[in-house]
Amino acid sequence: MDHFEYRDGWLFAEDVPVAAIAEAVGTPAYCYSTATLARHYGVLADALSGAGLDAGICYAVKANSNIAVIRTLAALGAGADVVSEGELRRALAAGVPADRIVFSGVGKTAEELAFALESGIHQINVESEPELALLSEIAVARGMRAPVALRVNPDVDAGTHEKITTGRKENKFGIEWARAREIYRQARDLPGIDVVGVACHIGSQLTDIAPFREAFLRIRDLVAVLRADGFTIRRLDLGGGLGVPYEGETPPSPADYARAMAATLGDLGCRLVVEPGRLLVGNAGILITRVVRMKEGATRTFAIVDAAMNDLLRPALYDAHHAIVPVAQAPADAPRRPMDVVGPICETGDTFARQRSLPPLAAGDLLVLRTAGAYGASMASTYNSRLLVPEILVKGAHFAVVRRRPTYEEMLAAETVPDWLT
Ligand SMILES: *Cc1c(COP(=O)(O)O)cnc(C)c1O
Repeated sequence: MDHFEYRDGWLFAEDVPVAAIAEAVGTPAYCYSTATLARHYGVLADALSGAGLDAGICYAVKANSNIAVIRTLAALGAGADVVSEGELRRALAAGVPADRIVFSGVGKTAEELAFALESGIHQINVESEPELALLSEIAVARGMRAPVALRVNPDVDAGTHEKITTGRKENKFGIEWARAREIYRQARDLPGIDVVGVACHIGSQLTDIAPFREAFLRIRDLVAVLRADGFTIRRLDLGGGLGVPYEGETPPSPADYARAMAATLGDLGCRLVVEPGRLLVGNAGILITRVVRMKEGATRTFAIVDAAMNDLLRPALYDAHHAIVPVAQAPADAPRRPMDVVGPICETGDTFARQRSLPPLAAGDLLVLRTAGAYGASMASTYNSRLLVPEILVKGAHFAVVRRRPTYEEMLAAETVPDWLT
């Protein structure tokens, strides 16, 4: 459920007309709804406590790393899951307490690990033996012990898009299942490492509960083995990955998800952490765009819009589907016809929708790509020297620009011409 609805024929974001936002900040622009963020957070938090779990929610910042979005979730009680120093700095800047931040990622550098340790974060999820050894050295040099969970790769198929599955043994993520016990033993012998738990994350946009259950059961087995080896495993980090409906998918509800956790891991006496990204922010965002012009091709009609793949990469990268709706509601009996909705970038992949059935459109019309709150702005680039899209946060009848559109001068200012060219 979200808070983008038609009222008297116009699309609103909570109590703000989307057209008013487009008027004020121009297009394209991302718009997020505070009420939707709060609703998603609340539904998940209630599901976890309803299942009797001692569980924390560490929002996966990479889904939408705007500081105002992070702060909105932090104010509701969320911690953060970060995958780079930049994200860690964002989480801290947004006011997430360091002791609610988990650092994940397969390629953390020495500088990033040192920064994380010095920031006093809750946990570092280590993904390889060399990373473990390096982290221990960095901790020892500072007279510290790093709180570590090993991210294990449970070798389950999340059944999701190939580019966002992470829990199969062919993937670069996590510690190979068959070697987990051995590497835990190594960790115990490292002076800078305090082993506190087990972590896993099997993929994104999962629409089936079975892979979660399978992974949780494997974690359960591992906890038993590790406890028999004398480890005090007190935390389990179960990653994120719960999907959202983009095109009629029916992902498991947060309640189903929490019940699967409770049934498989609830009796282990561990504090659980989940790292949802998309689930919290996906439906809470839209991308507002304007039709630049209509073009009749040889075999099809193109609606050329001012947003492009650099602003919202998911269709080009994952063949993702986003619902597209006009800001001015079309009459129920408007004659719909198939058209391709494309951006202006010089790539055929710059296509948001193929043969999508839409009402009549004309240059200047405003459209919205729905469910664009996750992996939208955070994946944006400036390809074709297009300016990054501004981000707007709505709360009730108010809206604020939470990231302004840069200027062309700013874009050019970062580059210099070497003296041999002057
Ligand atoms: C990407 C990621 C998440 C969030 O995934 P969603 O599908 O957005 O919930 C959580 N944990 C880790 C380690 C990740 O890499």
